[in-house]
Amino acid sequence: MCEKCQKKQKIVLFFSILIAIIVLLTFVTAKKEPAAHSSKPTIVVSTFSLYEAACAVSGDTLHIRSIIPLGSDAHMFSPNPTQVADISKAALFIYNGAGFETWVEPLKTTLPKTTRVIDMSTNVMLLDNDPHYWLDIDNMIKITQTLDGQFSKLSSVNTELFHKNATAYIAQLQKLKAEYGAGLSECKNRTLITNHDAFGYLAHANKLENISVIGLSSDEQPSAQTISHIVELIKKHSIKTIFFEELISDNVAQTIAKETGAKVQPLQPLENISEDELKLHQTYLTIMGDNLKKLREAMECR
Ligand SMILES: [Zn+2]
Repeated sequence: MCEKCQKKQKIVLFFSILIAIIVLLTFVTAKKEPAAHSSKPTIVVSTFSLYEAACAVSGDTLHIRSIIPLGSDAHMFSPNPTQVADISKAALFIYNGAGFETWVEPLKTTLPKTTRVIDMSTNVMLLDNDPHYWLDIDNMIKITQTLDGQFSKLSSVNTELFHKNATAYIAQLQKLKAEYGAGLSECKNRTLITNHDAFGYLAHANKLENISVIGLSSDEQPSAQTISHIVELIKKHSIKTIFFEELISDNVAQTIAKETGAKVQPLQPLENISEDELKLHQTYLTIMGDNLKKLREAMECR
């Protein structure tokens, strides 16, 4: 086994033990606390797409909480003791899965039976080992349908409302999907160059060629060879825009832009949203709409 993997295993083991202790302590102290005032079941989710779909389906009936702080790089997140305690008090804990949250596996085994855990990636269409599946609108529809079913199991009196809310949200997603289909049907260029490989599903769903400078995790570093290969591609296909993912460093994209004269433009992968975006009432639907505008401009679509 490689040295890096051994180190990683040790870290995972350390966190498993730490999480186990925290959950145990939570239980010991929880017994002394008075019963919760709210009768609404609490649902804890990890990523933003899950948060938005959960809020859309639940309406006011459930208490939906997202644990990844606004504006942070969701790839780099791992829960602190308070957040672990919050998860262990939830009726449902829903996470993205497909390797996105490396902290979930050790946490799962320590959660009480009262917290049901859902790995959303088992309900969607997956490409290779890519966890950014919410950027295929069809997968967002599958997420919504799954939540409709799961929330109905949790609170059967609200089944009709959940179904009505899910149907309305899915109609908005279908409209967005049609806009993507029409907006990206006739373009001069179909090559999407990004720094971090978050847009594979979006590219796949819309028949774009997806080239990324670094891999599926935002903390990787590209080799000099990879960079020069991409510089060549940009020159060869006269690509005018390089996209970079919001909330992570754009250094690499800037370096390539300087060498090629291409423009650097942010594209929001919806792993998380910033405080400003939240204040401006940005949603999956509005941000995906903005992304479409940027893609159409970069690829010179009619
Ligand atoms: Zn990502």
